[in-house]
Amino acid sequence: MWDAEVDVVVAGAGGCGLVAALAAAEQDLEVALFEKTEFILGNTASSAGMIPAAGTRFQKKAGIIETPEEMAEDILKKNHYESDPELTLALCRESAKLIEWMADSLGIELSLVKEFSYPGQRNRRMHAPPSRSGLELIKKLRMEVTKHENIYLTLKSELTDLIMENEKVIGVEINTSHGKQRIKAKKVILATNGFGANKELVKNYIPEIADALYFGYEANTGDAIKIAEKIGAALDSLTAYQGHSAVADSAGILVTWGTIMMGGFMVNKNGHRFGDESQGYSEFAKEVLLQPEKHGYIIFDEEIYQQLLSIEDFKNLSEMNGFKSAETIEGLAKTLNIDIENLRVTFEEFDQAVDVGEDAFGRTSFPKKLNGQLYGIRVVPALFHTQGGLRINTHAQVLRQNNSVINNLYAGGGAAVGVSGNHSYGYMSGNGLLSALGFGKIAGDHAAAMIKKERVETK
Ligand SMILES: Cc1cc2nc3c(=O)[nH]c(=O)nc-3n(C[C@H](O)[C@H](O)[C@H](O)COP(=O)(O)OP(=O)(O)OC[C@H]3O[C@@H](n4cnc5c(N)ncnc54)[C@H](O)[C@@H]3O)c2cc1C
Repeated sequence: MWDAEVDVVVAGAGGCGLVAALAAAEQDLEVALFEKTEFILGNTASSAGMIPAAGTRFQKKAGIIETPEEMAEDILKKNHYESDPELTLALCRESAKLIEWMADSLGIELSLVKEFSYPGQRNRRMHAPPSRSGLELIKKLRMEVTKHENIYLTLKSELTDLIMENEKVIGVEINTSHGKQRIKAKKVILATNGFGANKELVKNYIPEIADALYFGYEANTGDAIKIAEKIGAALDSLTAYQGHSAVADSAGILVTWGTIMMGGFMVNKNGHRFGDESQGYSEFAKEVLLQPEKHGYIIFDEEIYQQLLSIEDFKNLSEMNGFKSAETIEGLAKTLNIDIENLRVTFEEFDQAVDVGEDAFGRTSFPKKLNGQLYGIRVVPALFHTQGGLRINTHAQVLRQNNSVINNLYAGGGAAVGVSGNHSYGYMSGNGLLSALGFGKIAGDHAAAMIKKERVETK
């Protein structure tokens, strides 16, 4: 009846799945890790690798003292108190341990991102690899996985079903290049991300962003949601998502929101600003979609440009001549092909807003006036990933509609409900990797602890 038997099956080898597999394997369990595609990348590889955490030694070294409760309060405030407060706090409490485990046990070089804070974060709390790139992060996680003889990683292997007995999950069905395989497992962790690549589901649940570019991993078609719903799992917050307002149109590379947070702004083709950019790049994406030709232009200056060159994507864009630059406003407008007179007026209004600390859109964050050499880039809005998914408890165990636990089943990352509430405004930068890596670690640890406990009980 079974093709193989292991302690833990993990489906999906992105950030969540790799961390879950490593956490369980560290406890001497046998782990089978199945990945649908032939690569270990996922959305995690496309990310900027920024992981938020409160109370780390990296923050303390920089003189920043903050508690998980303060971090949770920031996340809740950003999502208008729509996310589950217990889940939110559980992740924030896990965050410093996660960062230090990754640095100490996995040997991943991480540092505090000191250049800028993202909207709504009261302190610098992003931790990232030196390149500020998710590709570096995923490469390091993958290398760690290959060091563990007790992790069996199989590519081109898609989770297609969960196998149940007496309302408990006892295994999985996997579609491999050798046909269907049935794998018996004591615990199953779903780490297959959300449904961003599934046009039909996006149209159905989040029509406001359905016309935007999808900038995530093509394999993330909502499999965990579809498979677990069939066995009675509850689904929460399916309208939540991480949008982004700024993917470089020419190169298909993310333009860091640091451009805005350090003092830049965005205009449309007519040279007009159209909202408070500092509220966050996720909710601003649908505003950009409403502009002529569904795109915008980020405008910033030499000082910002120089400081952001430490970010890999930004540096790559610069080396590809992705940014247009000019000494004057008129020159910049010309090279970007936007209305010259309107852009000049926009600069004047922006300078006045900096003087009074507020503008007509309600923006109050104005670090500086733009001066010296000016820069601009044409950007399009995008859907990065969905943030709703399977309802879980603070151990990452999947729940039914009545909140009872589906025994032996866990979920994390985009497969599970996140901490971004129900709308695009609820996404605070870092919520994606926080719930992917955080719930991956929580799920791996809890699954291992439960297996050990059950072994003792059956002796
Ligand atoms: C451009 C970009 C920048 C971002 N930057 C940040 C950032 O700096 N900080 C942050 O916190 N978040 C960021 N995010 C969001 C973040 O990348 C995601 O929230 C996070 O990577 C999700 O991790 P995951 O493990 O759930 O999914 P993924 O990393 O996407 O992994 C899911 C894996 O599951 C596999 N899979 C799918 N279905 C199946 C199946 N049926 N069987 C087996 N395998 C399957 C997929 O192929 C994939 O490899 C960014 C996203 C994008 C697109």
